[in-house]
Amino acid sequence: MTPLPLADRYARFRESVFTGVAETLPGFAEPMTEMELQSLWFSGAFGSEFTTTDGRPLRIADFGVWNSGAGPDFTGCAIAIDGQTTRGDIELDPDARDWERHAHGANENFNRVVLHLFLHAPEERFYTRTSAHQEVPQLLLSATMLPEGLKPRRHQAPARLGRCALPLREMEPARVQSIIEAAAQHRLEIKSKRLHRSVAAQGREQAVYQALAQALGYRNNQQPFAILSQRLPLKKILQLDAVQREAWLFGVSGFLESVRSDDTEPATRSYLRQLWSEWWKLRSGAERWLDGRQLLRWKLNAIRPGNHPQRRLGALAALLRSWSAIITPLADATRWSQAAWRESLLGLKHEFWTTHYTLLSEEAAKPVALIGETRVQEMLANVAYPLLVPERTRLWAEYLELPALLDNQKVRLAVHRLFGEEGTRGSDFTQKLHHQQGLLQIYEDFCLEDDSACAGCPFPERLKDWS
Ligand code: SF4
Repeated sequence: MTPLPLADRYARFRESVFTGVAETLPGFAEPMTEMELQSLWFSGAFGSEFTTTDGRPLRIADFGVWNSGAGPDFTGCAIAIDGQTTRGDIELDPDARDWERHAHGANENFNRVVLHLFLHAPEERFYTRTSAHQEVPQLLLSATMLPEGLKPRRHQAPARLGRCALPLREMEPARVQSIIEAAAQHRLEIKSKRLHRSVAAQGREQAVYQALAQALGYRNNQQPFAILSQRLPLKKILQLDAVQREAWLFGVSGFLESVRSDDTEPATRSYLRQLWSEWWKLRSGAERWLDGRQLLRWKLNAIRPGNHPQRRLGALAALLRSWSAIITPLADATRWSQAAWRESLLGLKHEFWTTHYTLLSEEAAKPVALIGETRVQEMLANVAYPLLVPERTRLWAEYLELPALLDNQKVRLAVHRLFGEEGTRGSDFTQKLHHQQGLLQIYEDFCLEDDSACAGCPFPERLKDWS
């Protein structure tokens, strides 16, 4: 059959659109864009020790810099294959054949690529070659390399009383407490492993900065906050003054260019003028990220004004101004002080964002905390204790005392399934943060894995063996 001349062109055109659209990649249950996949790699989530497609041991010694211009995705990286270290660039594609589809093999900008990553490869062997006829080592990534907690799971189990409710009701409270506490400890260990993987890949301060930024993204915008903190790494952003920093944050996030100054009130116009006075000078260094396919995908539906990502970015800017106070208690476990850390976060202020929810909102009647108690609790649960408890296990006792402040729909569902609506047993085990974390872990490990309406779930039987 003779190929039609325009069909191939259209296929390439369609493909170029689809790379910016979330697709379900091999091994991932959730659709994700190439950009989100790159973010996972860059944060060290896949690990740093691998085997290349031709069977050689590979270690990533330096994850480099996420490239903001033309050329490979990551530049200035260092990899060690068979113990021999090479410096160069890394390219990540969903499919190995994207290397040729995107003509990287004929592009001199890709001649320094020392590693080609992909998630999918054709059955027949595909070689990655540069325009200088150098063969590039390859690594096939897989969702199974991700740590527990990042692997795909089902979203929700039905809200009904489970088969385990009766044995749980008959157990002494101390045994129920012990199971929940054990599950909470396991959950903290999973978070610790994830965070420490990120520390190994990016360094302690950058890993903490990214984790705090993610916590500011709440449930819906964790991914864009993670990507933003990787595009504007701490080392770079701390060298800037406060206005330049905010110009970068709001510029690269896409919010600055999506707001018309005429639509805003006078105080906002003055703030925008300040940011633009720096952004127009910085903009050319971020062009790749302003391309439609690379723009961050913010989820703005059904977001309460106080949780709007623009306000959260304002909180991140304030947090960066006080970086030394935020990072010092986390520098090592012996310097930890929960009270000092909490106070630093709760006391953050910003001359614009303390009284504004978004760039389009009117000034609030009175100042509103940039980071409130619940967000601090989230940061303690997902950043501070996962970082520090493995380094000083005595902190587990402190963690056990944290009250439950988070209102989480999944926790409510877990309580409903394990304890039912009646009686006080459910409320006895939801007073503390570790209760919530333990129940979430049980819910994810058993309820979300169950396909038998509880009939085949091993949890009720295993309860009998718990001493
Ligand atoms: S799936 Fe298992 S843990 Fe979940 S409610 Fe049913 S019996 Fe309980």
